[in-house]
Amino acid sequence: MHTISTVAEMIALGQRWPAGAVIGLVPTMGYLHTGHLSLVHAARQECDTVVASIFVNPAQFGPREDLSRYPRDLPRDLALLEEAGVDYVFTPSAQDVYPPGFACYIAPVGPLVERLEGASRPGHFRGVATVVAKLFQIVRPDRAYFGQKDAQQVAVIRQLIADLHFVLTLHVLPTIREPDGLAMSSRNAYLAPDERQAATILYRALTEARRLVDSGEGRTDLLRAALARAIAGEARAHLDYADVCDPHTMLPLARIEPDRPVLLVIAARVGPARLIDNFLRHADGRWDGD
Ligand code: AMP
Repeated sequence: MHTISTVAEMIALGQRWPAGAVIGLVPTMGYLHTGHLSLVHAARQECDTVVASIFVNPAQFGPREDLSRYPRDLPRDLALLEEAGVDYVFTPSAQDVYPPGFACYIAPVGPLVERLEGASRPGHFRGVATVVAKLFQIVRPDRAYFGQKDAQQVAVIRQLIADLHFVLTLHVLPTIREPDGLAMSSRNAYLAPDERQAATILYRALTEARRLVDSGEGRTDLLRAALARAIAGEARAHLDYADVCDPHTMLPLARIEPDRPVLLVIAARVGPARLIDNFLRHADGRWDGD
């Protein structure tokens, strides 16, 4: 495994990929867990060359967010990536990605980025779209791997690829969970033991809403209320939003239709951590990850 720590070196490498080789990219912010590694394993199986990036992207954090305390452990991450068979790890510095005079952000507009995470974290998707577009330009992958855990991010990146004519395919993998259902997240490291216990409420709320959908409940207002009520039942959790929406547009659904995909999404604060989770039901009725 080779570690590439400058944009210039990575661009040079990206211009010399062997003809016909399939290049896979797995973008991360590091502090890796089994969720990240599931993306790496998929890339390893499907690509000739696997590039993982580790970059805590300042542009996607708001001024009052957790950029400075975001957990980091580069030596451990490198060992995990090496073990998973990654060929190249790209670890640029913030100064290299955003040098003095940097001016050209990719700023998605419209309902896709104005609701849910976009409403709670103004500018977040501008930062995400900018860094992902940069990574695509720098690495020149054929396939890019992202997690369904960040459902709205997936929708934004799908749109980014279409709108900017990136010639690559997006591969989205199911959310990996702890044994008690909590979605794996680097931010789970912020939780004290009692908060860690309380954090399972997101999964439990989604599981209850899923049960209602499976039993034929089509009224989304009732499903939203069920999600909110579940969170309200856990004193240490504070709801940010709970919604039932279209996973492509992120617009709220008035009703659940049998042949259309549905996304149940939730965001809540538990102690110092802001947590998100979702369940995706595909158009064929299958729940993602089943
Ligand atoms: P992050 O380091 O949080 O930016 O995540 C890097 C990538 O890993 C993103 O595509 C995430 O959606 C994905 N990811 C994060 N947590 C999980 C998880 N629990 N299961 C699957 N993918 C995940």
